[in-house]
Amino acid sequence: PNGANLDWKKAPCRFCGVGCGVLVGTENGKAIAVKGDPKSPVNKGLCCVKGYHSIMALYGKDRLTKPLIKKNGQYVETSMEEALDLIASKMKETIKDHGKDAVSIYGSGQWTIPDGYAASKLFKGCIGTNNVEANARLCMASAVTGFLTSFGMDEPMGCYEDIDYADVFFLWGNNMAEMHPVLFSRLLDQRLKRGAKIIDFATRTTRTSKAADKSILFRPQTDLAVANAICYEIIKNGWVNKSFVEKHCNFNKGLTNMGYGLEDNYKFKDKPSTINFAAFKQFLEDYTPEKVEKISGVSAKDIKYMAAYYGDPNKKVMSLWCMGMNQHSRGTWINNLVYNIHLLTGKISSPGNSPFSLTGQPSACGTVREVGTLTHKLPHGVVMKKEHREFAAKIWDVPVENIPSKPTYHTVEMFRALDRGDIRFMWIQVTNPMVTMPKLKRYRDGAKKEGRFIVVSDIYPTPTTDIADVILPSAMWIEREGLFGNSERRTQHFEQMIDPPGEAMSDTWQLVEVAKRMGYEKQFYYKEETHIEEIYNEYRKHHVGKKHNMAPLEVLKSQPGAMWPFVDGKSTKWRFNSKYDPACSNGEDFHFYGKPDGKAIIWQRPYEPAAEEPNNEYPFWLNTGRVVEHWHTGSMTRRIPVLHKAMPHAYVELHPDDAKRMQIKTGDKVKLTTRRGEIVLPASINQRGVPAPMQVFVPFFDENMLINDITLDSFCPISKEPDYKKCAVKVEKA
Ligand code: SF4
Repeated sequence: PNGANLDWKKAPCRFCGVGCGVLVGTENGKAIAVKGDPKSPVNKGLCCVKGYHSIMALYGKDRLTKPLIKKNGQYVETSMEEALDLIASKMKETIKDHGKDAVSIYGSGQWTIPDGYAASKLFKGCIGTNNVEANARLCMASAVTGFLTSFGMDEPMGCYEDIDYADVFFLWGNNMAEMHPVLFSRLLDQRLKRGAKIIDFATRTTRTSKAADKSILFRPQTDLAVANAICYEIIKNGWVNKSFVEKHCNFNKGLTNMGYGLEDNYKFKDKPSTINFAAFKQFLEDYTPEKVEKISGVSAKDIKYMAAYYGDPNKKVMSLWCMGMNQHSRGTWINNLVYNIHLLTGKISSPGNSPFSLTGQPSACGTVREVGTLTHKLPHGVVMKKEHREFAAKIWDVPVENIPSKPTYHTVEMFRALDRGDIRFMWIQVTNPMVTMPKLKRYRDGAKKEGRFIVVSDIYPTPTTDIADVILPSAMWIEREGLFGNSERRTQHFEQMIDPPGEAMSDTWQLVEVAKRMGYEKQFYYKEETHIEEIYNEYRKHHVGKKHNMAPLEVLKSQPGAMWPFVDGKSTKWRFNSKYDPACSNGEDFHFYGKPDGKAIIWQRPYEPAAEEPNNEYPFWLNTGRVVEHWHTGSMTRRIPVLHKAMPHAYVELHPDDAKRMQIKTGDKVKLTTRRGEIVLPASINQRGVPAPMQVFVPFFDENMLINDITLDSFCPISKEPDYKKCAVKVEKA
């Protein structure tokens, strides 16, 4: 190919939840160019370093192109037919010997909507087990439970257009400059154009902090206390929007001291009770800025500074967050607390006033939240509600009794069940849990035990394919047709532009083929050439109505996506606001229709310490996260030479004072030891991020330096999302 006759087609970028529109240029069956789509309202023609190099991930030298079956400890090539036959027969055998709940599927926020839909229909509808989970449990489950507990409905009420109107951006533990770079450039643009302020509130100094107007550091876990202190200030200074609160809010308190999920089969059910404004105000007396300064290390002056912006009636405020708040042992609570601030001030659901939880993956919203690939979920519903099961069963053409009414295992518990032997068969698609699971060694050892059968569908060899009994080569991104849903409720379609290599097949079609082999031809009636359209049209039936409607496929094919609810040919930009949302029906200016009485909830949520705090033996905090160059575990981006060269391996960031005291320089080997084990990494001092004193940060993208071998598998008891941001660690020069 020489680029002279490029055929340009649109697709959403697959390397993060921002969902930038790109144009891919193909020639002679090969993708040879990529650029930002100027028509996309998300990125307006821009891309970040991953987007600009995205097509190179298709062409790594070691692409999986043939199915592999493990025989006598060796992987041998086989045909797709034989591999799919084996998977179907192993599933049937496992169900016969151990019951339906012994088989499971673990997918991803990188699953396309049809992938996740096929998985949910096969496992929940046909087989009859709720053993469906996705890696998005590890990154945004707390955002979901935050939305559900505060508003009764998932996903942000606003959209990216809020950025164009907000006067102040509060980033809650959110390194947007690296994790959501194109969106962050829109914030910077608004600062240049309109003087909008960016306030970075975090536990470490990052590229985002350096670009912000003000950077405020807090002690890990104490964001809970600071958020309460902001509410205290808002009430004390009379900044409460009284008419909004009276008309549209209720006050609740939940259970406290609920533990950290460290034991197998840990169960927790919150028991909310109603309180009044006076009780809420009284509760906040423990969170005066002066008291919280002692807990959080944030000065009372800075707390008042933040509260004043939220409280100023003339300022529109957008709060943005992602893993810092979600990967938190009180993740649901901190989500609730940020909503409290917006609800008390009435700064919500209107242009520029927007609490906005960002997602990491291209379809964490579209597939995991909307299709519902979590144990308790159905497409637009939950398994616990009879009417939701009946609705799904009718569309799926299965008896309603097939769908169990109880959720089974959330992600951490699913891998614990595999370790215990309660689960015997696991199919892993589009994700790399043998890099991402916390306290990884336990779950790796568990997966390798006798009597477990693991299928892994992926595009490259990874530490997860190392544990597989069958490896299926998957078609990647534009090698098949699909749809993703990004952070702002935008569903985007992409067509197949090139052929997948060898026998690689889409994850959707792998599932359809196995379903047919298991005897579900009636439910999986789709034809290969039209199955994406058939599946999407069927999926849309789950979402009918003004509150959820998804755009028709022809609309998504003709434009860079549409936001649900898609009503009367239009995307809904601001939900719950009767000016913009046709689903509002209470005759008021706002209607939080996710709750039975149409009112949002302001929650009393206290500060509680983290599951494992530093002590004399393990005196530092360990924080983990991502870098701009690599997509999550690096399985794709490490095969893009320019990105790999720019960031070739993991490292441990130390504060310069700690490094000086321990005589550690950049590049020196540093040993990190936690109660789970140890790891040696090169030091990084003043290179990119700078943690606060007595804290270290390690990125998790490097499969040769598995930081998750030593992290802790504590999780938020409500969302079941692990806290990758906090455990106690000893730091020594190696
Ligand atoms: Fe892709 Fe995200 Fe970069 Fe946009 S910001 S180009 S979606 S990786």
